[in-house]
Amino acid sequence: MCAVKVRNLTIGNGNFIVMAGPCSIENREQLLEIAKEIKACGADILRGGAFKPRTSPYSFQGLGEEGLSYMKEAAEAAGLVSVSEVMDSSDIELVASYVDILQIGSRNMDNFALLKKVGKSGYPILLKRGYMSTIEELLLAAEYILKEGNDKIILCERGIRTFEKLTRNTFDLSAIPIIKKMSNLPIIADPSHGVGRADIVTPMAKAAVAAGADGLMIEVHPNPKKALSDGQQTLDYPSFRDLMEEVLELSAFMRGESPLQARGRLKAL
Ligand code: PEP
Ligand code: MN
Repeated sequence: MCAVKVRNLTIGNGNFIVMAGPCSIENREQLLEIAKEIKACGADILRGGAFKPRTSPYSFQGLGEEGLSYMKEAAEAAGLVSVSEVMDSSDIELVASYVDILQIGSRNMDNFALLKKVGKSGYPILLKRGYMSTIEELLLAAEYILKEGNDKIILCERGIRTFEKLTRNTFDLSAIPIIKKMSNLPIIADPSHGVGRADIVTPMAKAAVAAGADGLMIEVHPNPKKALSDGQQTLDYPSFRDLMEEVLELSAFMRGESPLQARGRLKAL
């Protein structure tokens, strides 16, 4: 297994991690608060978009560099690793000067020029599955980055477009054990985008852990109804706390720890 090391954090190799935070970085005070809250719940990585790939050009596009500066401050204050999306190869150095991990979003998974550039950059990469891409295409996209000499890649299953209408995407749980068989790279799961509705994020997060995911990405906001993007799939603080308790206990069980040991570790948080 090819674990990815970022600062003091190991992703993969039996070390289960959670990335959490708002869909979009909205303002400084809110991000500082979210970072503190998710850290207290046991999360490892702060997520948040500053350059947002929005379906409509009239939707909120993100705060850009200003948002990235809040990300850096909030992650450092809370003692978290950080991740944010880079949409354009001309922004790679800018985004990397503020965050630890560069996210390649679903809409850019097969932007081969961008993949080559982030490969050359050598920065840790979170590569999300294209919403119209097969598992094999995701693995080949990772090869584009690997081929440039960058093996710091974390894969992410985030759902694919199907005919189903009751969910935003169809969360492809089977991708997790298949990727475990076919690749040495860590694979995390994003049930928030995977299903697009907050009421079933927690059961799908647990299902992903049971399927062997090395980590989770979860959208969290103090007031999801007021979020500037993806509020419908975003958890509030109490729901995120409950999710973390259930998920950390399950991941401990998956590692062979007894429920009592797992609860002991949770209390220590
Ligand atoms: C995100 O994680 O902020 C995001 C836009 O996700 P995706 O690229 O999977 O749609
Ligand atoms: Mn989102």
